[in-house]
Amino acid sequence: MEAVQKSLEQVAKRAPGLHSNSASAKAAATTPSVHDSIDRLIAQVEAAKAALSASSSSSAPNPAVLVAELKSSVESAQKSILDRQKEFHAALSKSTKALDKKFPIPIDGVADPALFSSPEAQTALERVIFNHLQRNGDWSTSYKFAAEAKLPLSPETEALYVQLHNVVAAMARGDLRPAIAWAETERAWLQSRKSGLEFALHRSQFIRIAAGAILPDSDDALTNRDPDGENVEMMSASIDQLHPASTMTNTAVAAAGSALAPPQTNKERALAYGREHFKPFCASHLPEIARLYTLLTFLPDFIPAPAYGPEGLDSVPVEHLLPTVLPIYRPLLDANLVHAPLLEPLFKLEFCARNRIPKDAPLSIGVEVGAGGALNKIIKVKAVMKERGNEWSQADELPIEIPLPTKLRFHSIFACPVSKEQGTEQNPPMMLACGHVLCLETLNRLAKGNGRFKCPYCPTESYLHQAIRVYF
Ligand SMILES: [Zn+2]
Repeated sequence: MEAVQKSLEQVAKRAPGLHSNSASAKAAATTPSVHDSIDRLIAQVEAAKAALSASSSSSAPNPAVLVAELKSSVESAQKSILDRQKEFHAALSKSTKALDKKFPIPIDGVADPALFSSPEAQTALERVIFNHLQRNGDWSTSYKFAAEAKLPLSPETEALYVQLHNVVAAMARGDLRPAIAWAETERAWLQSRKSGLEFALHRSQFIRIAAGAILPDSDDALTNRDPDGENVEMMSASIDQLHPASTMTNTAVAAAGSALAPPQTNKERALAYGREHFKPFCASHLPEIARLYTLLTFLPDFIPAPAYGPEGLDSVPVEHLLPTVLPIYRPLLDANLVHAPLLEPLFKLEFCARNRIPKDAPLSIGVEVGAGGALNKIIKVKAVMKERGNEWSQADELPIEIPLPTKLRFHSIFACPVSKEQGTEQNPPMMLACGHVLCLETLNRLAKGNGRFKCPYCPTESYLHQAIRVYF
């Protein structure tokens, strides 16, 4: 699916007017977006109009020259717009090709067209699409879709998705405060399921402070805690407070507290952070906390440079620190293992579980399974079955078993290897003395009332009363 995703991203990138082709200002000037070209043209026309009407007769510009200039501007804008459109269409046709490559065979006849013909099924399908759009944060598309499909909006669900998006976006920027705030309010629930989320968040903060980052909620900011994270203001506020400090009496300085303390080193800041935040985890994560404090002993002591924060939270360089750290502690400086790449999925998992929303959007799972090979396999099997003269009835069963990757296995279901029936509460899976598992009805059938029988899979003799129930 990545190839398709990539080509679609290219299409979005080249959508006329939406984006400039390149991030650099120089390239943007030579290849302006459609909107830019038109805006520039309008400005030129307005300027020409103003020049013609405002100027006195003596200094009036030659209308013929003005028109000639405008004409050449229109032509160059037209050319630029056409170029952008050409690029867009090239990307579009590439993405169509990528899609065709992924789905080479028409799928008519594989799915029962009646499946989506009833109004209920149609609504269910539309709900899944709507859910997917909101899930991905495509708010305006989702509202439009809901209006066209006449779906009711659910402010509660939407608020959850908004919260999820905001926290994850902040996390990607390196600001863990919203995630930590959520984890703190849900601490009891998280602990009840032995989640490591809250500790992992604080660990990430601790490591970044130790590596020299100034976090928005670090000591500088503690006295000026601001939920919007305007760290620049916080910094200047704390610097302002420093000036009157020099004229204060000693008692006043002592009373003013830590806000007036001299700048701390990275290690002192990290220690202070650990002291403040690791306490609730001493029982559950003591070895890990010890590891973090030990990491500090390897790091050089320095005054953190303000240049690192707050924007560059995740880009605090650690390469220069690596040689000083023993190899077994180096994973603690690996961003993939301790920062956003680890924290984001962990947060999503816990947030979704807490709010009882699916971890992944159902539509993307459906597409991933189908496009991941299942559809092609079914089409192939269907063709083979047709050749041999028996049709797949498209009943509730698939014609073959489709192996799925572990992350796409949600509920383990036991199917009896003898009767092929699925295990239920009335007919549960039972393990024999030899370790083979059959369902209860099959066992009863084999035992035929006398309680003794031979396992169908090995030569062992078993007794009915020896069999124990297996839970999945
Ligand atoms: Zn056996």
